[in-house]
Amino acid sequence: MNIFEVWRGEWGLTRDADFRADPWYIVSGKQVIDSGFGKPPKEFISRQLPPGVVVPGFVNAHSHIELSCMKDKIPFGSHLTEMGGIIQASRGQMTSQTIRQAAVDAIHEAEQYGTFFFCDICNSTEFIRFLRDLPAFNGNRYLELLGFSSPSDLQRIAKARELLDIDSTFYPTVHSVYGSSPLQMHFVREKARHTSVSIHLLESPDEIDFQYDRGEIVAFLKRLGQHVKHQEMQGRSAVDYLHSVGMLSFKKLLLIHLSAARTEDIDRLSDYVPHAAWVICHRSNKHLGIDRANWETLRHSPLKMLIGTDSLATNSDLSVLHELRAILDEGKYSERDLLRAATWDAYEYLEIKSNRIPHFLFKGAQPNIESLSEAGVATTLGGL
Ligand SMILES: [Zn+2]
Repeated sequence: MNIFEVWRGEWGLTRDADFRADPWYIVSGKQVIDSGFGKPPKEFISRQLPPGVVVPGFVNAHSHIELSCMKDKIPFGSHLTEMGGIIQASRGQMTSQTIRQAAVDAIHEAEQYGTFFFCDICNSTEFIRFLRDLPAFNGNRYLELLGFSSPSDLQRIAKARELLDIDSTFYPTVHSVYGSSPLQMHFVREKARHTSVSIHLLESPDEIDFQYDRGEIVAFLKRLGQHVKHQEMQGRSAVDYLHSVGMLSFKKLLLIHLSAARTEDIDRLSDYVPHAAWVICHRSNKHLGIDRANWETLRHSPLKMLIGTDSLATNSDLSVLHELRAILDEGKYSERDLLRAATWDAYEYLEIKSNRIPHFLFKGAQPNIESLSEAGVATTLGGL
């Protein structure tokens, strides 16, 4: 048996994220060594794939796999802080076995629809170690330090420090301006600024209110006994506060949501960190009743759009393909822009090597997102 084979397909995706007929792929195991269009190289055994579309795997740039156990627990239309309350109340009730099984199921389901890489946020040091050793998981792991007041923020820092001493394969990160204290910001900046940070930013208009010390988030923190008026935040917008504590000086910045970012916020970010990526989690925003009014401003900014799903608390699956379909339905982005955000732009931004990208065949699909999303379970090239 020849270890290299050329598979010829009906439709493939170019590096510019256009669909094109007659692709070929040189496959070894599940690795695609080379690919192109038209006549394949002669020196290999050539085989024909069933009709359909081959796409390189999709990148989910924002997930919380740990929260897969929260599926169907947050009613549609719940408020951001209601979600926070439900997660807080139910998480302690679940066994580690339940949490882990839900996580594995969610990863497998997403993979069946072509998602192979995650930028995942974990809340517990125990779960982040579980993911590290889980063969089904592929991606970057962030340990999120939650805690807005002392001493709970200090306790989380101590735990993160302890784990970093023995394991340097994850990134410590903060939750958000309102979820992590200035002390945690300083800790993460010192530990990780040459690497990568993932931060929820301006997800809902409540975060604008929060900067003025009013509204739902302030009330929520008060209920948790976590409300503090941190000196560092006074009189500053969320973006300016993050800038002032050095949280924007990272090599790779994943700014999650920006759904409520105003033009002035996007202008500031474009000035301070034009190299940053922003991650849209559209179905999750919809679930929480958050409407976006800044599509055009973001599209014209230098910030690179990537695609995320957030968690199963606010989404039905972790599939980026299903996310693309939902964004496409808004009529704001072209198919090409969306497919690029889920593939080549993400590989480049996250430095994912091309020989690490599995390719998926959607049998019987036509070359468009709608048809791909309706084609059913995909097959990995090399796994046929
Ligand atoms: Zn999130």
